[in-house]
Amino acid sequence: MTKLLIAVALFLSVQTAPASFTVGTATAARGEKKLGALQVPAGVDAAYDIPVAVIHGAHPGPVLAVVAGAHGTEYASIIAVERLIDRIQPADVSGTVILVPLANVPSFERIVPHVNPTDGKNMNRFYPGDSTGTQTERASWAITKQVVEQCDHLIDLHGGDLDENLRPYSYWTVTGNQKQDEISRGMVLAFGLPHVIISVDRPKDPAASRYLENTASTRGKPSFTAEAGRSGPVDARDAGVLVEGVLNVMGHLRMMKRAAPPVKNPIWIERLVTVAAERDGMFHPAVDRDAHVSKGTKIGVVTDYLNRPLQELVAPEAGIVLFIRAVPSLKKGDTIASVGVVKKAGS
Ligand SMILES: [Zn+2]
Repeated sequence: MTKLLIAVALFLSVQTAPASFTVGTATAARGEKKLGALQVPAGVDAAYDIPVAVIHGAHPGPVLAVVAGAHGTEYASIIAVERLIDRIQPADVSGTVILVPLANVPSFERIVPHVNPTDGKNMNRFYPGDSTGTQTERASWAITKQVVEQCDHLIDLHGGDLDENLRPYSYWTVTGNQKQDEISRGMVLAFGLPHVIISVDRPKDPAASRYLENTASTRGKPSFTAEAGRSGPVDARDAGVLVEGVLNVMGHLRMMKRAAPPVKNPIWIERLVTVAAERDGMFHPAVDRDAHVSKGTKIGVVTDYLNRPLQELVAPEAGIVLFIRAVPSLKKGDTIASVGVVKKAGS
């Protein structure tokens, strides 16, 4: 009887799984990989196309979306998804993979960090987006409707931007939904980066979700963000870590045959403290990314353009330098460093 029930359930799941899967102009039949574009229509400013690959696996299973390039100069994460487009074969996949390698094409084309140069907006702060807004809002809206709403899980990939000397880490969001949080925690640990920042203060309102990962999480989809790469050049190891991480999560979700043991000794970061520039000037770092600092450790100095000291910078708390400014250019208010405060065992 049990065997019969399982057979019926399997039959039904195969029958109810969609024969084809469409994102934007890409429609893949079962067992196919199709490339296309998510079209952001013209509005108060120009239209543009976001490249997308749809891999509709030979076997049914969950839908995983992987998005990179919200910041179009975080190159290692973009190259990682480019590599995944070739690496993932539909014959090996149970479920469906949506790959969006470059969400913010204008930033990439014009080599502008942090924002979309068309409207000056950060493309990971305006979710769920707005179909009548400026380009960043319309692009976010298209991603929400076609990628987030169609997926079961989402991974948002980032890295150190042109001005950030960053060590790799993931973010794990605590939504308060215990079951969902356990699943996303399992995904983060399977991904493989040992440093995990615990986010407890993400918006809870799906209509004001701000971040991409949070847009999926507030819609009940276990998801997370990971970062690797830094300040321009693509280090093959950084891109590789992100490629392997995504494949690990696919193994963990049983979307492909692949062992994905959880990180053995995760380093949980319970809080981020940032150091910001108090005035315009020139930045001279005193520590590298990944430095373990005590409270009061000198991390750098800001001078004027004639090398006269303006601001001495110290770590506000003990922790790990997750990223430090990679370039001397500095304007008042810029983030100079992010220090992760490590959660103590048992706390
Ligand atoms: Zn980013």
